[in-house]
Amino acid sequence: MARDDGTPNDRPANDRPAGSGRYRPQTELVRGGQTRSSFNETSEALYLTSGYVYGSAEEAEGAFTGEMPRFVYSRYANPTVAMFEERLRLLEGAEACFVTATGMSAVFASMMCQLRTGMRVVASRVLFGSCHYIVNDILPRFGIETEFVEGGDNAAWAAALERPADIVFLETPANPTLEIVDLGVVCDLAHKAGACVVIDNIFASPVLQRPLEFGADVVVYSATKHIDGQGRALGGAVLGSKAFIDDKLFPFAKHTGPSLSPFNAWIMLKGLETLDVRVQKQCDNAEALADFLAAQPGVREVRYPGRGTGHQADLARSQMKRGGTIVAFEVAGGKEGAFAVLNRLGLIDISNNLGDAKTLATHPATTTHQRVPAQTRHEIGIGDGLIRLSVGLEDVEDLKDDLGHALAAAG
Ligand SMILES: *Cc1c(COP(=O)(O)O)cnc(C)c1O
Repeated sequence: MARDDGTPNDRPANDRPAGSGRYRPQTELVRGGQTRSSFNETSEALYLTSGYVYGSAEEAEGAFTGEMPRFVYSRYANPTVAMFEERLRLLEGAEACFVTATGMSAVFASMMCQLRTGMRVVASRVLFGSCHYIVNDILPRFGIETEFVEGGDNAAWAAALERPADIVFLETPANPTLEIVDLGVVCDLAHKAGACVVIDNIFASPVLQRPLEFGADVVVYSATKHIDGQGRALGGAVLGSKAFIDDKLFPFAKHTGPSLSPFNAWIMLKGLETLDVRVQKQCDNAEALADFLAAQPGVREVRYPGRGTGHQADLARSQMKRGGTIVAFEVAGGKEGAFAVLNRLGLIDISNNLGDAKTLATHPATTTHQRVPAQTRHEIGIGDGLIRLSVGLEDVEDLKDDLGHALAAAG
């Protein structure tokens, strides 16, 4: 079990095949991956330790040759972190999982662990700001060719993937336009071009969309969003085949150190217990708010995955169990119009975070997507009047009252 880099295989063995949880997903969210200590605690134990001790010099030697798989150092693995990895793995139906300190470290590690100079990355154009920065600014510095395509345009993917590629990276639904990418079609094209498909599945959450079933190779999360879901801690995750995680991602991560703190892993484990009920309730609220907003005079357009008719709506319904927790809407009057609404909200907070129990509103053009040139913003559908609403767990009638009042007062 020793690795080529001479350091031990110190992750707990996990030989169960993909998605082979003994129970249904909602049960695995509460129970999956738990290992109890000799104290038989009910709740998952928090092992706040950076290192581990050996009973003998021989044991230490055995750990480092890999003959004795065990915990060696918490940059590589930790019992609480391992419980979180296993629970998430069971939910996603992946062979293996490695969790990281933030969503961005998950995105970066999932790409850098497999890239070399001369390789080629094709990505969808509408991406979370920092994901865009990695593809557009960081990768080219290392002689990696990158190309952006219109995510919703299958012909554009086909054209870009006529030439060989090494990674295809995309978000669906995309932030903040909620554009849907056809996972089945793009995974097929990507594989024909020789690429590994990496999906940022943060907006859908593991409850609503399972990219591996559509042919994706790697799924990444910001656990900061729905998995914590209560605005407390940062975290990330990478899921994929055992070969990808063990041979590519893990050696890269263990030597570069984006490891998740056991304390944050413990928060995320407890977050997973309520993930399904929170996301379902947030979807109930989001669906109701999308309909409510569409009926308001000051609202020009409402975007919510699967709502209405047309190809994008059909696609959302075929890939996602429900439309998700985010609603985007365009108000009249551009930036001034959007600011007037945001500044008149009383209950809903202005915040760039999402997936939280609290409903949060943001103005992408001046915050999360401020760095994107205005021309590009308009081309990809981030208008100056666009407001992104991350819908929380409050009573939906209070949310309607707040939005209705703000829209009316803003004129
Ligand atoms: C938040 C987010 C990230 C980054 O996650 P962090 O935990 O903040 O590092 C990446 N992609 C998308 C779509 C996000 O919403």
